[in-house]
Amino acid sequence: MAARPAPYLDDLNPAQREAVERLDGPVLMLAGAGTGKTKALTSRIAHLLTTGRARPNEILSVTFTNKAAREMKERVGRLLGHAVEGMPWMGTFHSICVKLLRRHAELVGLKTNFTILDTDDQIRLLKQVIAANNIDEKRWPARQLSGLIDNWKNRAWTPDRVPASEASAFNNRGTELYAQYQTRLRELNACDFGDLLLHVVTIFQQHADVLEQYQRWFRFILVDEYQDTNVAQYLWLRLLAQGHTNICCVGDDDQSIYGWRGAEVGNILRFEKDFPGAHVVRLEQNYRSTAHILAAASSVIRGNENRLGKELWTEAQGGEKVRLIGHWDGEEEARWIGEEIEAAQRGSRGMHAFSLDDMAILVRASHQMRAFEDRFLTIGLPYRVIGGPRFYERLEIRDAMAYFRLVVSPEDDLAFERIVNTPKRGLGDKAQQKIQLKAREHGVPLLVGARLLLRDKEITGKGAAKLATFVDQIERWHEIARQQLGLPSEVQQDDDDLVLIDEDKPLSRAVSHMELAETMLDESGYTEMWQLDKNPDSPGRLENLKELVKALESFDNLQGFLEHVALIMDNETEETGAKVSIMTLHAAKGLEFPAVFLPGWEDGLFPSQRSMDESGLKGLEEERRLAYVGITRAEELCTISFAANRRVFGQWQSALPSRFIDELPEAHVEILTPPGLYGGGYGAAGMSGGFGGGSGLETRAAEANVYNSPGWKRLQERSSSARSVSQPRESRNTVIDLQAVSAFEMGERIFHQKFGYGEIIGLEGDKLEIDFEKAGVKKVVARFVAAADS
Ligand code: ATP
Ligand code: MG
Repeated sequence: MAARPAPYLDDLNPAQREAVERLDGPVLMLAGAGTGKTKALTSRIAHLLTTGRARPNEILSVTFTNKAAREMKERVGRLLGHAVEGMPWMGTFHSICVKLLRRHAELVGLKTNFTILDTDDQIRLLKQVIAANNIDEKRWPARQLSGLIDNWKNRAWTPDRVPASEASAFNNRGTELYAQYQTRLRELNACDFGDLLLHVVTIFQQHADVLEQYQRWFRFILVDEYQDTNVAQYLWLRLLAQGHTNICCVGDDDQSIYGWRGAEVGNILRFEKDFPGAHVVRLEQNYRSTAHILAAASSVIRGNENRLGKELWTEAQGGEKVRLIGHWDGEEEARWIGEEIEAAQRGSRGMHAFSLDDMAILVRASHQMRAFEDRFLTIGLPYRVIGGPRFYERLEIRDAMAYFRLVVSPEDDLAFERIVNTPKRGLGDKAQQKIQLKAREHGVPLLVGARLLLRDKEITGKGAAKLATFVDQIERWHEIARQQLGLPSEVQQDDDDLVLIDEDKPLSRAVSHMELAETMLDESGYTEMWQLDKNPDSPGRLENLKELVKALESFDNLQGFLEHVALIMDNETEETGAKVSIMTLHAAKGLEFPAVFLPGWEDGLFPSQRSMDESGLKGLEEERRLAYVGITRAEELCTISFAANRRVFGQWQSALPSRFIDELPEAHVEILTPPGLYGGGYGAAGMSGGFGGGSGLETRAAEANVYNSPGWKRLQERSSSARSVSQPRESRNTVIDLQAVSAFEMGERIFHQKFGYGEIIGLEGDKLEIDFEKAGVKKVVARFVAAADS
């Protein structure tokens, strides 16, 4: 069997081989994407095992995600030719720390069976702490405190170590509340995610004997993606590595993308200082991507000032250039990518056939996924979302959908339970129990139970007032939802005062279901809850909510939408078979795919608005590294796209192509012709006229201007030497439409695809004021209006 002791070494280049065979002392492998760092790291593990330098359980090997840990185990198994058993210390920082903490919990005042709180529990506990201190949680939300504490934990600051410079945090109370929170956690025999690492670091720092035991035990330490370690992780590693100093870290400063979560790229740059005599290996040959793809990635990352600067080369010449395409809007982008994927699957486009498993869509922001998920479900293209829930499974989406569900069907008790105290309305378990009892007593849904409880004054205080508002709101919205379905009013006139609608607040005009959805989220306080939330993921949640409202556009009413989602969710039974992967750029780190789609390259989305608003280059450079990570995931085919318009809350927002597009090297990019109009898809945008009220004019102007924007012009100029790029046909239609506006006259009878028939009672540029027969007076965009007799 051991005729050739180390076949895995044959697959390595000399530099990799050196990193694998130099087992003693610190080794740093600092090299660009796709140069085989992870491959070398796994080979090193195989080598340790084969040469008998370490037993499987003496190797500590840290990866960033569970997926990466699993893959590493598989890769080692493949190298060795048999499955790897008994490597308990191969995993993520968190999974390894849980094991360590269970063994030594008592040293930080916990029992071995401590529980790990999830974010919801963490927030609940922080709320209690805040309340116990008589702090107004509205002004000083628990989520903000939780973000702060997570941050401090990432920096390895226990409450007594938070520096004085942080004293003003959370209204000067941050440190003190942090200390109380830690005490509460201990009383509950619980810890949060950040504690897993922090507690272990504390144990190591305070108990030299324990530390020594592990320093001796872990003969070899290996770390992948070292550029993204935060301070706590770094301290943890440094403490452990001080024993044998056989630590091998691999990373790429150009791929440091977790600065926003406390990662310090400085850790990798400091390695040689921390570990004197460290052997540094640099790898320059990229084995993953074609020359075109590599050139594109290198050209973009060159825009960063703060980098070590590495050049990569590849033997893989030829192949397709990086493809760049602009679309009219995000829906069209999704549609086009869906078609491209199917084409690639069939092996058209002059290339070999790609399996769905070979293709990935990498987005900057998770809300971008919705358009793809909807599209792929419609055309039956199997997909998986990696590193997070699918769009409709997200917490905020399920909350919002619970509002929609309850409003469409007030007997949906599950929906009621989910949202009656979300956002907080002071309706704790006790109040909710009362509602349950009342409802059961009368055999009615919870919403009606709540109404009866209020009528009988069996609930009092602040909670009662808030419950009353909530019930009123749901009933009012329910009535609107019924109108939208064309159902008769449900206002009850019977003697008991179960009035389902407040007649003092007549519904003066018809509202669209999108308007209703937006109103619900706003007036219920749900949107505000996330606006006040200072957690780094809250902006993403707000984006998802906007995206949800946008998704409603393709449906006539809430009920139709809910049915659609129910069917989607039902389809979700885990079938095996090939699937396209959808994930964020952050989740794609370390992975590779033959074909990669990078949609949404627009200023404000990618780079993110926040990074553009920031003073200094830090945020923008992190975005650029993210672009580099994205492009370098591709092996053979890389397609970058952007949309000229995204609809946000039913409003068109025009966007300029990402500044990163300017940084792509002409010689390696092919600009594709946008496909133009796909029948009818834009019709739903007509709602924007009735939806947002005032800004129709600006919006239309913006639409027209996109194609005069410098970014678009640049693209056209560039492409004139290559293929000719025509403007999307849709935009040419737009121009015609703009001229056609004047064709309407006062008093003319028209038809609008959403609001039906009406008469023009006002003309303002491209906006028309129309008295609709059914919907009342509305301002709409002329483009979506047709003369009634045509
Ligand atoms: P990233 O920075 O993206 O994490 P990486 O440096 O970890 O990239 P790997 O994932 O290890 O790179 O390798 C990239 C690809 O190149 C893999 O498909 C790997 O199998 C292949 N590869 C690595 N080294 C060699 C080699 N010496 N010969 C042939 N193929 C190699
Ligand atoms: Mg890697």
